[in-house]
Amino acid sequence: MNDIVDVLIIGAGASGAAVAWSLAETKMRIVCLEQGEWMKPGSYPSTRRDYEARSDGQFAISPNQRKRDTDYPINEDNSAIKVTNFNAVGGGTVLFGAHTPRFHPSDFRVKSLDGIADDWPINYDTLAPFYDINDRVMGVSGLAGDPAYPPKPQVMPPLPLGQSTMALGRGFNKLGWHWWPSDAAIASVEYEGRAPCINLGQCGSGCAQGAKGSTDITYWPLAIRAGVELRTRARVREITLGPDGMANGVVYYDADGVERFQAAHIVIMACNGIGTPRILLNSMSARFPNGLANSSDQVGRNLMFHPYVAIFGYFDDELDGERGPANSYWSHEFYETDLSRGFVRGFCYEFRRGAATASTAITGVANGGIPWGGGHHDAFRRRHRRGTGLGAICEDLPKAHNRVTLDPVLKDIHGIPAPRIDYTLSENSRRMIDFSVARGIDILKAAGARDIEFDAPLANGGWHLMGTARMGKDPATSVVNEWGRSHDVKNLFIVDGSLFVTSAGVNPTPTIQALALYVADQIKQRLANLFD
Ligand SMILES: Cc1cc2nc3c(=O)[nH]c(=O)nc-3n(C[C@H](O)[C@H](O)[C@H](O)COP(=O)(O)OP(=O)(O)OC[C@H]3O[C@@H](n4cnc5c(N)ncnc54)[C@H](O)[C@@H]3O)c2cc1C
Ligand code: SF4
Repeated sequence: MNDIVDVLIIGAGASGAAVAWSLAETKMRIVCLEQGEWMKPGSYPSTRRDYEARSDGQFAISPNQRKRDTDYPINEDNSAIKVTNFNAVGGGTVLFGAHTPRFHPSDFRVKSLDGIADDWPINYDTLAPFYDINDRVMGVSGLAGDPAYPPKPQVMPPLPLGQSTMALGRGFNKLGWHWWPSDAAIASVEYEGRAPCINLGQCGSGCAQGAKGSTDITYWPLAIRAGVELRTRARVREITLGPDGMANGVVYYDADGVERFQAAHIVIMACNGIGTPRILLNSMSARFPNGLANSSDQVGRNLMFHPYVAIFGYFDDELDGERGPANSYWSHEFYETDLSRGFVRGFCYEFRRGAATASTAITGVANGGIPWGGGHHDAFRRRHRRGTGLGAICEDLPKAHNRVTLDPVLKDIHGIPAPRIDYTLSENSRRMIDFSVARGIDILKAAGARDIEFDAPLANGGWHLMGTARMGKDPATSVVNEWGRSHDVKNLFIVDGSLFVTSAGVNPTPTIQALALYVADQIKQRLANLFD
């Protein structure tokens, strides 16, 4: 079982699945180690009547709240934004909202265009063919012709509008601002054996219908059929280094907690923007006393979340409530830099649905919108199934002091140090947040909403984890080169969100997966001289 393998992938989430699938055609011996398990869709909260309560326990988005033994704790006391993730086959895509926008071409050139941060060493055209492949494998619905993007193929027709989107769309139309059906990894029609979306509205705690393209039902079955071996409940502690300075394998704990060694010719990290720097920093050796591949001291730095804004209002007519995919329309009206707004770069709006019944009651009581005593039921009725709103995804800029390090005290159940997050919001983000709230209120008012409320930034909104092992041409300022290979260790690759040079103002997963496919393609093309 533990003979040397050709390729060892750590992490079976969005990027690990994509890189495994792409490399499978080489017929190399490929093994993926994943600390979590296969999920059983029949156990997802949406299959039971008490789904709201259940989605807050074992399916909570915060690992510190969820506390499955497949999770690891995170010290986020010194962070304005808390991390959310999921540790299983499929990784974060088990819980993700499946909103799958691409980056804009400008996102790869912010230094040239805006004089900030850095340009990426690759551009939109480099990734375009891999975005296309990823859209097909993940199964993306949408509508061709969005003026916010260069032309791109469409895989499935868009998801239906619903009452909430129609209400918000009326506001955008009045103001003359851009809105369009989102690209969403949700089947709008039968697709590759997947049933279409039936509007359960529980994408955020696992789609029992199988309409949402989490990678456990998209890439993984294909990769396994092509010969990739996926070992679950296998938690990697560290990557080991041979006397030649090359990675020679990993130490991991198996399902029984037994320490094992797996030798490999190539190691690929796909543990996300927190998990990857954690394992690199924990892989110390005489040659790399500050962590593997970290001669630049860049591992763990430049952590980017997207500061998230929620703006919500209530309407007189009944809308969708929580029914329907959470985010299936978007606006890119404020995406590109306009310095008259007081900040660089921008954000997109996601159109939301409403809250479910218990959440409507709990939030309303907590924020004073639903009083106790006289008027209680009336106030509840004026809100229940009558609310909807927008989420703004604000571009975050890379800052060296926003970082992941190893916590000196906190450990997971295997004794591996937990990551510690230090993160503060920049002045640019604060201004962007304020602007996105103000325009969001304009839109909701134009749509006819009353009782408008907002939350900015969302404290539990750290679902996009980026930048902590960034790519670049200069080994002094980046961790991997322009095709994902470590500058320091020539058989070590990274394919997850850690690679990001900047964060853009859209959800990152299609870009993470396009990067993973692009790195796999580079590996395939260079197999003869991969380690030169
Ligand atoms: C609630 C929620 C909603 C989201 N909504 C969206 C959305 O609408 N659109 C979007 O684009 N993105 C969304 N995201 C983000 C999306 O899930 C991530 O961007 C994506 O999953 C990241 O891919 P990744 O491959 O970098 O890491 P992940 O998918 O997080 O995969 C990493 C995997 O590595 C494993 N791992 C980590 N450490 C180890 C170790 N030491 N040993 C073995 N295995 C390990 C983990 O268990 C995990 O399975 C959402 C996330 C959450 C939590
Ligand atoms: S809304 Fe659609 S995609 Fe989301 S959980 Fe329900 S069926 Fe699945």
